[in-house]
Amino acid sequence: MACVELRNVWKIYGGEVEAVIDASWECQDGEFFSILGPSGCGKSSTLRMIAGLEEISRGEILFNDQVVNKLPPSSRNIAMVFENWALYPNLTVYENIAFPLRVRKMPKDEIDRKVKEAAEFLNLTPILNSGVRHLSGGEMQSVSIGRAIVREPAVLIMDEPISHLDAGLRARMRDELKKQVERLHVTTLYITHDQVESMAMADRIAIMNLGEIQQVGTPLDIYYHPRNDFVGGFIGEPPMNFIFCELLQEGDQLFIVTPAFRMQLDDEGKPQFQRYSGSSKLKLGIRPEDVRVRLQPLPNSITLVTDFVEPQGDRTIISLRLNDSDILLAQVLGSLRPDVGQPVYVTFDQRHMHFFDIETGLNIKNLE
Ligand code: ADP
Ligand code: MG
Repeated sequence: MACVELRNVWKIYGGEVEAVIDASWECQDGEFFSILGPSGCGKSSTLRMIAGLEEISRGEILFNDQVVNKLPPSSRNIAMVFENWALYPNLTVYENIAFPLRVRKMPKDEIDRKVKEAAEFLNLTPILNSGVRHLSGGEMQSVSIGRAIVREPAVLIMDEPISHLDAGLRARMRDELKKQVERLHVTTLYITHDQVESMAMADRIAIMNLGEIQQVGTPLDIYYHPRNDFVGGFIGEPPMNFIFCELLQEGDQLFIVTPAFRMQLDDEGKPQFQRYSGSSKLKLGIRPEDVRVRLQPLPNSITLVTDFVEPQGDRTIISLRLNDSDILLAQVLGSLRPDVGQPVYVTFDQRHMHFFDIETGLNIKNLE
């Protein structure tokens, strides 16, 4: 096994396309580390440099503190699982898994032992002699993982392995994949553009956008302490609300002032944000689940008009009108169903509010 470290790594294609910009992070031995970001943000370029399939334009990549920049892929002991699983359609499950060992000219009985071990581990023993053509998606995934792990790689790399599946199957495969990888205890780099996958599976996540690392942290850390507005908006569904605002002091009270409302900061908000009073050019970030909606007025509530109601069983998404062009999404549990056009009374869970600098996008708590 190995830890993987990137030190100020860049990938510049053709002297001009900056696909990866000054990336630095470290994945621990045995960690399940996810690289998350929208399409085109530089995820695959990062992995290809780690695997040795792409030259590193600048910076260093280290495995266990050894610089590997010049090592060919075959010397890096990395296994890759791709989106299409790339199985050999004419071979059996057994032969697909055995393939990388045969290429390495391993003795036959050793191959046999390793293939059977991997098959047992992945519940493939009953279908070892079947062709792979007619396997279910789940079985094909297991075979492709079997083939990747049979030679005991130091690092397992998966590039969007389940992204192309439909939602139901993807959820099942995600759970299955997580179980398999957990039992393997192999250092795993997992690429996806789907925040749900990263949140559900990863020990830690590196979020990328436009070639740059935005934040590295545990799923909960990233969820509750987004470093900037991109991370806040990318993680979470329905997405975080953003509202332009100022923080204004009046007497000994602090207020969020937006074109649509004024809200006093309460005992949970005020101590956190007091020192930013007087800041203008901010964007308030508040998740729909942290917006509370009541049909009766509450102390410090603001009044907004219901625009749209979307029942989702145990919870309801309510769109509230801020002004002609902006809405505030609330997600409430239970059966609260205001009518369209009905005024409701809204407060925020101020523990979970964020303020982002409009120009830099940074969470003001990260500005110092
Ligand atoms: P992701 O995997 O996050 O979708 P990629 O790493 O594939 O992103 O691509 C990042 C950026 O680099 C994109 O703008 C893409 O068009 C560009 N890119 C990727 N590969 C090449 C290449 N071989 N030559 C030129 N540009 C490339
Ligand atoms: Mg990619």
